[in-house]
Amino acid sequence: MTQSIGARPFLRIDREKCLSCAACAAVCPPEALLLAGLDLVFEEEACTGCAECFRVCPTAALLPASGRFYREVA
Ligand code: SF4
Ligand code: SF4
Repeated sequence: MTQSIGARPFLRIDREKCLSCAACAAVCPPEALLLAGLDLVFEEEACTGCAECFRVCPTAALLPASGRFYREVA
């Protein structure tokens, strides 16, 4: 089973767990994650599926929508 980035959304956000720490936004290469005040905004179209944000989130508030941590190139 393969998943391309075309199978959006790549990312699921558990907003109950989010601390608005901005760690994910700081490592997101295309700046697909942004803090607007305390609200984490996800610009889905900008996401490349690199998974960097999952690695730095201290509360596991970010999860791959597929349940997999790394996308595979079809
Ligand atoms: S998977 Fe990569 S591109 Fe997508 S939101 Fe996370 S850090 Fe940004
Ligand atoms: S790294 Fe996790 S806790 Fe911090 S802003 Fe991003 S989703 Fe929220």
